Amino acid sequence: MSHHWTQTWTFLDGQWHEGNVPIMGVRTHASWLGTSVFDGARAFEGVTPDLDLHCLRVNRSALAMGLKPVVPVEKWIELAHAGVKRFAPGTALYIRPMYWAEFPGPRTVDADPESTRWCLSVYEAGMPDPARGAAVTLSPFRRPTIECAVTDAKAGALYPNNSRALVEAHGRGFDNAVLCDMLGNVAELATANIFLAKDGVAFTPAPNGTFLSGITRTRSIGLLREAGVEVVETALRWSDFRDADEVFTTGNYSKVAPITRVEARELQPGPVFRKARKLYWDFAHG
Ligand code: PMP
Repeated sequence: MSHHWTQTWTFLDGQWHEGNVPIMGVRTHASWLGTSVFDGARAFEGVTPDLDLHCLRVNRSALAMGLKPVVPVEKWIELAHAGVKRFAPGTALYIRPMYWAEFPGPRTVDADPESTRWCLSVYEAGMPDPARGAAVTLSPFRRPTIECAVTDAKAGALYPNNSRALVEAHGRGFDNAVLCDMLGNVAELATANIFLAKDGVAFTPAPNGTFLSGITRTRSIGLLREAGVEVVETALRWSDFRDADEVFTTGNYSKVAPITRVEARELQPGPVFRKARKLYWDFAHG
């Protein structure tokens, strides 16, 4: 089996390694039982917006997963910048700090927080072209509640559910899947948060603990409100998205990106999306 990985540098156990460096063994708790958390930040056009918040969040995720956040936020930031410097200036990069449990605790399935290990990877990942747009569909899968999964962490173990939602949506000709929570309110996409615009007002699901209330989401809401755009955080149904004037997404990977098809209905990137994207880019370079 082979896969072409883009250029990758990882800080692990005190040094930088190039390529897809092995980080776990067959007996590692995380490789067997999924006790890992991560975060995703970006470098692009020479900036790293909200890098500090992504580093802070990975430490919070570690605590939620029962791990020990042994890397101070300042150290994550310093390492991220050192990693970025290993690439040509301006390269679009994904910055991924990560923690995992190495050893089991006394009952095997429990993890030993004292065995927390970590690494920081930086790798090439081009910024998606917003002109491409994306088609979305309602997923038959749902977001778990906090009683069912560690939804208060950005945990690797949450993503097999997102993966099957994406595979199912791709199979029906869509680029991404909209997942509802267990009450049937729209939660998020498999890879990002979701917004709609209707009559010039932006709406987005109110955080209820079932989905990742993203850093880009919070940033974009703040920027839009400062610019005088009304943003309503509330419970939204799938029908609200089907009837929207605009649908767009926020997330670290693509930042602010348009949805150009909701099931059979074609949409254009609209004025609220364009404002949100421009405000984000101005903020990132500001
Ligand atoms: N939801 C999911 C499932 C995600 O993977 C992401 C990307 N991290 C987001 C939302 C957006 O969060 P953020 O803006 O913090 O990157």
